[in-house]
Parts: sequence; structure tokens; C-alpha cells
Amino acid sequence: MKKAIFKNFIIILLLALILSGSIFSLVISNVLSRNTRQNMLNILHILDETLDYDKDLKGQIDQLTLLYENSKARITIMDIKGIILVDSNISDYVNMENHIDREEIQQALREGKGAARRKSGTLNISMLYVSYISRQGDYILRIAMPFSGLWDYVLILFPAILMSLGVSLIISLILANRFSRTITKPLYEISEQLLKLQENNPEFSFKPYEYFELNLIADTTKRMADAVKESIKKIEFEKLIRQEFFTNASHELKTPITSIRGYIELLENGMATDENMKLEFMGRIKKEAQNMTELINDILMISRLETKEVEVIRTDVRICSLINELIASLKPLAAENNITIEMSCKPIVISANHGQMRELFNNLLTNAIKYNKPNGQVKVYVTTEGNDAIFIVEDSGVGIPEESRQRVFERFYRVDRGRSKKLGGTGLGLSIVKHIVNYYNGTIELDSKEGRGSKFTVRIPMS
Ligand code: ADP
Repeated sequence: MKKAIFKNFIIILLLALILSGSIFSLVISNVLSRNTRQNMLNILHILDETLDYDKDLKGQIDQLTLLYENSKARITIMDIKGIILVDSNISDYVNMENHIDREEIQQALREGKGAARRKSGTLNISMLYVSYISRQGDYILRIAMPFSGLWDYVLILFPAILMSLGVSLIISLILANRFSRTITKPLYEISEQLLKLQENNPEFSFKPYEYFELNLIADTTKRMADAVKESIKKIEFEKLIRQEFFTNASHELKTPITSIRGYIELLENGMATDENMKLEFMGRIKKEAQNMTELINDILMISRLETKEVEVIRTDVRICSLINELIASLKPLAAENNITIEMSCKPIVISANHGQMRELFNNLLTNAIKYNKPNGQVKVYVTTEGNDAIFIVEDSGVGIPEESRQRVFERFYRVDRGRSKKLGGTGLGLSIVKHIVNYYNGTIELDSKEGRGSKFTVRIPMS
């Protein structure tokens, strides 16, 4: 890249120099050529003033041309009809042809002065001719000088052009080098920073650069690198959570399996001496198997909610009749501790997955009964607030200590492990509730007073 910048810089510079050099040379040459013509005209002017046309013209001219010998100037004087009266370079001027039709003479006859450039028929070199009509009488004066065009001046200017080319080339080489470094160095630095992504805990440091675009690249790179870092962290965190989940799940499954095996061994070894004992062991095996089924169902539910792969079918769910159904099915559980359930329900219909809604209310209601006190109360409110559906499940139970209030929504977290297990809890209920609420872009709040009861408030936008 540095090389490419360098090369392009030099090419542009050379082009600019050649172009400006050519224009400059042309303009200067033009000015010089105009000056030469003016000088030649001045000479003729002075000559006309000093010449005595009545005396020997050849003698006077020869004397004067001594002064111009070096400049190779040729002076010709003719009468108004073009007949040569004298020529400084040709002695046999009497026989020279009539000059009246020469371009510069014709112009002088029209305008008082004239100029032309052409190859001299007499001397066979390119010449510049300037002519002038005498103010003293009917004479035409003409001066001619070798002149091969603008190139004469270009050649004079050439060393200067060459020198300025050289100097600007050196300066621009230095500048191009410095310029390309101001671009390539930051890019190297940025890529070096990017390499840090391979490190374990990369810390990026980007300097501010001279150019806005480079800062933009640095900034975008930093943001991208941060985002990559963040998602790596997230992936690692999720991996950890998943691992933890599997460890916990297998642990949770192991417990009922161990006790089932224990009871079976007791039965096999004939430890159940009477029929009643046998029945009790069988009953316990059945209960553990039920717990396992529940646990597996909850695990499946969580994994379905997490992967979000399964298409969730939504229907119009009548919340009040769903809750009524659930309360009816939970009556036996509530009756065990003489718990009363009150309900105040605004008859709303929301578009949701019936199974998920059932799971949500079932978990909240079951917990409100399970973690209640004997003769306790459970209150259910369903109402709306603006566009939100509000579900409140309140109990007068054991409550949740402050430090556990956030954690109860974690998977397998239980405040009182023994109590939860005894009541057939899996530790996944509230975690499932939270997942479902999140799925519907809702929120869940928990208010609780230890020993006095808990209140769960769910808010779900209806559209
Ligand atoms: P579990 O299957 O153990 O009930 P949950 O996820 O439903 O699992 O609840 C997690 C823990 O939160 C429970 O073990 C219990 O300690 C506590 N908890 C949940 N609901 C209530 C409640 N209404 N009153 C008191 N504690 C509760």
C-alpha cells in the first residue's frame, strides 16, 4: 500500500509538473517572442530616425550592422514599390527580386508595421522578419533574424525547468514518504490491536489519528472488537450455565432414581414384612417416579423455551376460565392445609399459547399453596392497565427472605430445599414462569415479607 501511494503520488506530481512546465514555457516563450519583435521594431525605428536617405545607404548600413554582427541581424531597405535599395548581407542587392509581395511588407503597407516568420529563400534558415514604413519618405525598412520558433526559448528555459523538476521531485519524495507513513502506520497499529482478540482478556488501545477516516476505522474496529469480546463472553457464560444446568439436572434425577432403587432392593430382600409395608414402599416408588416425570417435563419445557426453535401456536386464551380450571384441580392440594383461594378476575382474552399460560398460572398458584401456612389464603387478581394485562398471585405464606428474592427465578434454586423436595418441587417452576413472561415481552415483580407472605405481579402487553 505504501508503495502504491508512493507511486501514484509521483505520477500525479510528474504529470502536474509536465503540464505546468509546458504551459509556463509556452506563455514565457510567447512573451519573449513578442519582446523580440518589439526590439526588432525599435531597432528599425531608431534606424529610420538616424539614416540619411539622400546619402550612401550601403555605407551607413554597413557601419551600423557592425553592431549587430553577433546577432546575425540582416537589414534591408526598399522603396515603397518593393525594389531593394540596400541589403546588409547581400552585396548584389541590385539584382534581388522585388519584395513587395512578402507577407511582412504587405502587412506594413496596411498597418505601418508588419512581422512574419518563414524560411529565408536566400539563406535557407528559419527567420523572423519585422518591417516598418519610414516616417522620412517612401521607404520600407526590414530587419530579419534567425528564429526557429518558440523552441528557441524553451531550450533556454530547459535547465530551469529541469532544476525545478528535480527539486520538486526530491521534496515530493520526502512528502510522499511521510504522507504514506501517516496512513500505513495507523493501519498497522489497528491490525496489531485486532490481533489482541486472540488473547484471553484483550485490552484495546487506539490512538487518535490525523485523519477522520482513520479514526472512523479505529473506532469501528474497537467497537467491533468489543462486540466480539462481549459475544465471546456471552457464549462462554451460556456454556457455563448450560453445563451447570446439566450437572444440576443429572443430580436432581439421580436422587429419585437412588431412592427408587433403594425401595426395590428392600422389597427384593424381603424387608417388607407385611402387606402394608409393601404397599407403602410401592407408594413411595410411585411418588418418586412422579417426581421424576415432573422434573423431566420441566426440563423439557425449559429447553423448549430456551431454544425458541419450536413454533409457538397462539390462540385466544380466556384467562378467567383457565384460572378457574386450575383452581378446581388444585382444590385437593389446598384442602390439605385448609387454604382458601379467592379470585377477582376481569374477563380478558389474550392471544397466547394456551399451554404456556397454563404453565405460568399453575406454577404461581401451586407455589402459593405449597409455601403457605395452614389455614392460609391465596388471592388471584386479573385486571388490565392501559394495554397491559396484569396478573397478581398473592399468598399469606412463609414469604421469601430478601437475599433470595432475585434468585428464586434461577434454575434449581430453592430457599428451603427440604421443604421444596418434600412438596414435590423441582426448583424449575419460577424459572419457567420467568421464561414465559419474557417470551411475551412482559415483566414479573416479587414483593414479599418473610413470615407474612409473597406477591407475584406479572405484566404482559396484550398487543
Ligand atoms: P419449586 O419447585 O422448588 O417450588 P420454584 O422455582 O417454583 O421451585 O420456586 C423456587 C423457590 O422459591 C422455592 O423452592 C421456594 O423456596 C420459593 N418460593 C416460590 N414461590 C414461593 C411462595 N409463593 N412463597 C414462598 N416461597 C416461594
